[in-house]
This record gives sequence, C-alpha cells and structure tokens, in this order.
Amino acid sequence: MDGRESVVIVGGGMGGMAAALALGRAGHPVTVLERDPLAARADAEEAFLAPRRGAPQVHQTHGFLARLQVVLGQRFPDVLAELLSRGAMRLPTTADLGEPQPGDEDLEVVITRRTTLDWVLRSAVLEEASVEIRTDTAVAGLVAGAGQAPAPVIRGVRLGDGTEVEADVVVAASGRRDAVPAWLAAVGVEVPEEVHESGLMYLSRWYRLPEGFDIAQLDAKLGGDLGFVKYLGVPGDAGTLSITLAIRPEDRELRQVLSDPDGFEEGCRRLPGPDQFFRYPLRPVGEVRPMAGLVNRARRYLDDQGRPTVLGFHAVGDAHTCTNPLYGRGCALALVEAVELADAMAAHPGDPAGRATAYEAACARQVAPWYELSVQMDKLGADPAGLSAGPADPNNPMTTILSAAAADPVLGRGFAKLWNLIATPAELAADPVYTARVAAVLAEPDRYPPPVRVGPTRTEFLDALQAIHA
Ligand SMILES: Cc1cc2nc3c(=O)[nH]c(=O)nc-3n(C[C@H](O)[C@H](O)[C@H](O)COP(=O)(O)OP(=O)(O)OC[C@H]3O[C@@H](n4cnc5c(N)ncnc54)[C@H](O)[C@@H]3O)c2cc1C
Repeated sequence: MDGRESVVIVGGGMGGMAAALALGRAGHPVTVLERDPLAARADAEEAFLAPRRGAPQVHQTHGFLARLQVVLGQRFPDVLAELLSRGAMRLPTTADLGEPQPGDEDLEVVITRRTTLDWVLRSAVLEEASVEIRTDTAVAGLVAGAGQAPAPVIRGVRLGDGTEVEADVVVAASGRRDAVPAWLAAVGVEVPEEVHESGLMYLSRWYRLPEGFDIAQLDAKLGGDLGFVKYLGVPGDAGTLSITLAIRPEDRELRQVLSDPDGFEEGCRRLPGPDQFFRYPLRPVGEVRPMAGLVNRARRYLDDQGRPTVLGFHAVGDAHTCTNPLYGRGCALALVEAVELADAMAAHPGDPAGRATAYEAACARQVAPWYELSVQMDKLGADPAGLSAGPADPNNPMTTILSAAAADPVLGRGFAKLWNLIATPAELAADPVYTARVAAVLAEPDRYPPPVRVGPTRTEFLDALQAIHA
C-alpha cells in the first residue's frame, strides 16, 4: 500500500471542497459528487448569482473568523493569497485594544462573499489532477461491505439512478440538511444526534455599494443586538454589502414586515450600524431571503467505549457538527475538520479504525468545545460578535468582563481569541495573565458599567415599519 486510498466526497460546499483540496494534495484520488449544477469555471459574479438549492445559506451574510485565514495560511497559502487578490479583506479585531502586539495578525477576520470563498476554493480544487468534481450528481445512499466486524465498512455510495461509485473512503460533506443518519441507519449504524435550537431565523438582503465606496469611512460597529432583533451589515468583495436581521421565528409580525423589501430597508435605517450604509445610494440585489432551521447539532460517530461505529466513512462540516450561524464558526470548523481528516489518513494509512479514532479525537479537541460554547451562549443570550449593548444585568460578572474587554488589551485579546476559535474556553481559563486581569476587573466592577442600549424598542420598530404601507 502506497498510502493512497480512493475517496468519494459527498457535497461540494465548504467542507467538501476543503477536504478535496487536503486529500487531493496528499495524493489520494478524489471524486466530489455535488447535487447542485455548479458551473465548472464560473467567475466570482456568476458564482454569486447562481442558485444554490443545496446550500442556500451561501446567499446569507457570512463573515469568516480568524481561524479560517490562519488555517488557510498554514495549509493552503495559495488559496488565501488568491482570496485576498479577489477582493477579500482582512479586518483587525484588536484595533481598539491599544498598541499593536505580536499575534494580532492572527486575530484578523476575513470579509468576502461566501460565494467568492467557495469559488476560489473550487478553482483551486479544479487545478488538482487527482480530483474530479461531478456536479448535478445526487448521492442517494451508502454501499456497505459484506463484513460487519468490528463495525460496518462503507465501500462506496449509490447515486439517484442506482449506479454505485466505489471508494476506500466516503466523506460526507453534505451540509446541515443532509440525510446522513438515514443513510447510516440503512446499513445498520445508529448516529445519535444532539440538537439545540438557536431560536433565530435570518432575513438577509444583498446590495451593491456605490462605486468607489470607502469602507474606512464606516463606523466599525456594523451590528448589534436589541433582543427582539440581532443584526449585522457586512461589506463583501466587489462592492457588495449584505445585511441580516435575525429575529425569533415565532415573531410573525416582525417577520411579515421585514420580508417586504421596503420594510426591510426601513428596518435597516432604524438600526444603529446598518443605518450608516443607507446614507449612500445602495442598489438592492434580489429579494429579502429568509432562512430558518438554524440549529446547533452534534452527531456522534463513536460508541460509548470510544470505538468507531462505522469504518470507511467520515463526516466533515455541518454533517459532523453544526453551530448557530450567528457565531460565524461553520466554515472555519469545516476547514479544520477537512485538514484533520487528511492528517488522520496520513497518520493511519490503510487503517480505517485507527484513522476514525484519530479523526474523532481531533474533532473532540478542535470542534466540540466550539459546539458546546455555542449551545451555552445561546442559553445565555450573549452576543457572539461582541457587538451588542451587553447583557442588561450589571451585577452579572460576565457583563463586567465583557464591558471591560471592549478596550482592555488583555481581556479584549482573550475574547478575540475565543470568538475567533484561536483559544478554547479551557485554554483561556488556563492563561494566568488573562485570569489575573479578570480578577482585577471583577474587583472593581463599578469601573466597567454596561454600555447603554441604543435603538428602538420592538413596539417603536414594528409601528414604524407597519406605518410604511398603512
Ligand atoms: C444562515 C446561515 C449563515 C451562516 N453564516 C456563517 C458565517 O457567517 N460564517 C461561517 O463561517 N459560517 C456560517 N454559516 C455556516 C456555514 O454556512 C456552514 O457551516 C458551511 O457551509 C458548512 O459547510 P458544509 O460543507 O458542511 O455544507 P455546505 O456548504 O452546506 O455544503 C453541502 C453541499 O452538499 C451538497 N449535498 C447535500 N446532499 C447531497 C447529496 N445527497 N448528494 C450530493 N450532494 C449533496 C449540497 O448541495 C451542498 O453543496 C452559516 C450558515 C447559515 C445557515
């Protein structure tokens, strides 16, 4: 065995393309099967305008955490360079934290359209001689081998027309709405799932900024959290802007008014952050796009003894773990999983059980903490982007710490590492400089009052929007 194993990847979104790049560059022959009819060599604009039924979230607002550019820089520097040359921008998250410090460059987020990121990744994959991408090709199920010990072994996939595609390894990168548990149940494998509702739905709209628009003229605060609505306006590459208003799905009144293009625009004008864009002549692109079903979900591919429940099969991206999109973690985690899978395959050639164990152990270290944090943050109602007016309760120690972190070089960088998936909560809690600063801040809570909430109440907001068509 020369270490090369044939791989079929189901899904050509973020996780699938990242896995194809990592495994293809490691020398494995890879076939990507993608259900959507993606144009092979479209440019960024075509990629933006193309429908994506299989991954509708690509047309929702995306921001990319620092971990994504750090991993791209380490593993695929050519892809990062290409992304930046195509108009993606790196934005510092430490600008308000005093003198620049070493490591600040690893805390820069990336802003670009999600479709541009996917397109740049896909273009890089297309350059790999060992990778074939077959679009317009839906997978309908898995093909298992005859033996069942120590766990069922997957030998390939079955397409919608009944054709089988054989592979040594099947990677499900089939996204948050996929059928992986049903596929595995059909071959006798149970995949326990833990699901936590985020309690949010997105309403997003794209705009074109006026020619020559200078992003530097904007107030850095692009979003916020008024309780009844969380919101974010993110400029993208090529003079684009996307704005998302995230509301509770059961809030039918707000949903109705904000789904109307005029209501959406008026809503944006009334929210501190998005309002600043509407001082300029914006050109809308398309309608207001809703997206619901935004859950946190973790699937388990090991049994209670930590043994793999299936061999020759791995899940990356949302097929493995989904987090509330508001935290912007999904693409970075999918990329992390893709490179961890390639590393597990390199470390355990021809050993399906060894690499499944190694891969799941890597996910437990590098992915599970962010899933757990997402679930906890949803419960606390904290604002992930650090953009909110802060939790209302001034007696809550977290309120004090968050207020101090806005300008404190130690706490601010600690939170920047946490939000950007650079340091886990446990790593932060083990940092003596950080914990000493937390103790010092908590000793003087009155110095760090919570910022005042700015913006309309729900009633004021709703009345104003309902008045438009009255
Ligand atoms: C509203 C919203 C906003 C988000 N915002 C952010 C953000 O700001 N930052 C961030 O990092 N992440 C964000 N995310 C998360 C991010 O979009 C996902 O985590 C990421 O796309 C996961 O990549 P994936 O490869 O697992 O799935 P996807 O990118 O969804 O790709 C799955 C692919 O599989 C294909 N497929 C599915 N079933 C089959 C089949 N049977 N046969 C063949 N192909 C199939 C689909 O067509 C699709 O192309 C957001 C998610 C949502 C829903």
